[in-house]
Amino acid sequence: MTEQMQVTRSWFDEVIVPTYAPAAFIPVRGLASRLWDQQDREYIDLAGGIAVNALGHCHPALVKTLTEQGQRLWHVSNWMTNEPTLRLARKMVDATFADRAFFCNSGAEANEAAFKLARRYAKEKFGEQKSQIIAFLQGFHGRTFFTVSVGGQSHYSDGFGPRPGAIQHIPYNDIAALKELISDSTCAVVMEPLQGEGGVLPADKEFAKVVRELCDQHNALLIFDEVQTGMGRTGSLFAYMQLGVEPDILTTAKALGGGFPIAAMLTREAVAQVFQPGVHGTTFGGNPLACAVAETAFDLINDPAMLAGVKEREGWFRAELEKINAEYHCFSEVRGQGLLLGAVLTDAYAGKAKAFVDAGIEQGVLVLVAGPNVVRFAPALNLTAEEFAEGMCRFTLAVAQVVNA
Ligand SMILES: *Cc1c(COP(=O)(O)O)cnc(C)c1O
Repeated sequence: MTEQMQVTRSWFDEVIVPTYAPAAFIPVRGLASRLWDQQDREYIDLAGGIAVNALGHCHPALVKTLTEQGQRLWHVSNWMTNEPTLRLARKMVDATFADRAFFCNSGAEANEAAFKLARRYAKEKFGEQKSQIIAFLQGFHGRTFFTVSVGGQSHYSDGFGPRPGAIQHIPYNDIAALKELISDSTCAVVMEPLQGEGGVLPADKEFAKVVRELCDQHNALLIFDEVQTGMGRTGSLFAYMQLGVEPDILTTAKALGGGFPIAAMLTREAVAQVFQPGVHGTTFGGNPLACAVAETAFDLINDPAMLAGVKEREGWFRAELEKINAEYHCFSEVRGQGLLLGAVLTDAYAGKAKAFVDAGIEQGVLVLVAGPNVVRFAPALNLTAEEFAEGMCRFTLAVAQVVNA
């Protein structure tokens, strides 16, 4: 490599569009659930790149596939198909309710495809008037204009001109509100089986069951956004598998490529048929490099021992967080499922989730927020007992730092 310039965090404020306010350190390498920054300071990673690095950093099997496929074929475009995309689709279809897959590059793109598909399906089958999309307050579906409009946090969609229409929001888990709103004009109900960004809030089983029934009654499609909950995160391949309710369309992304960008939309045969050639598309979607890596990640994650391990690790977190809380009394509850857990702050610490994250960085452990009142954990599914113990030891120090401040 040629001589490199000394990169510093201050460059961010000079050359990057200020969409984010990143941490003061710059990670330069990772291995399993550890990261090291430019000064070689070590961090235990309990954030997992926001539920993306499901197998930790630089998993040897993923590195091997990336290297091998990288020397074979990267991109051919969608006027040709390729072996990795077909293999991955076959595996995902075999493992789920779905008959067909559409690949793209991000969660927002998968949801964009899902919403367009639902609209087109309703129009072709039932007519123009069937266009209403029902979604939930605090829901998050991505940052394209359609997906941010379906998302239930209006401050993300305000200020960009007229929004796409016929989208309505109701409170999550509110059966009465859904009964009131849904009609034969509803084309789709969109929900996360467990709201991630919105505060790590699980759907009630009864609610999910009623959503499915009402969708059937009104010929509306049920779309599950499993961008965050998918790929083993909750202890089953997809969260719907524990809810006892199957969607008509499912989107997934974050962990699908184990850190390599790729997303998928899965659906049933009859729905898929409205996406005939030319109706929708993406240049990079389904490229052989991303699909090859995702296939390896899929094989490792869709494994009974790996999924059982997620439940076991949930137990580790719950026990340890309870212990921390017994001493520091800062959490009102720990909620979520599998390795998507949220420690909800008590009133005394309301709005201070970010302070716990910052203290974590100081102590050498990475955790996330989910809104202002929830500290979120989304670590690698293969987090080791040693990484967990060290991480929680540092997190305890972080909690003490905030509480004693
Ligand atoms: C992260 C997320 C998205 C957006 O995914 P991107 O890859 O950032 O576009 C959509 N839905 C849910 C539930 C998410 O957690």
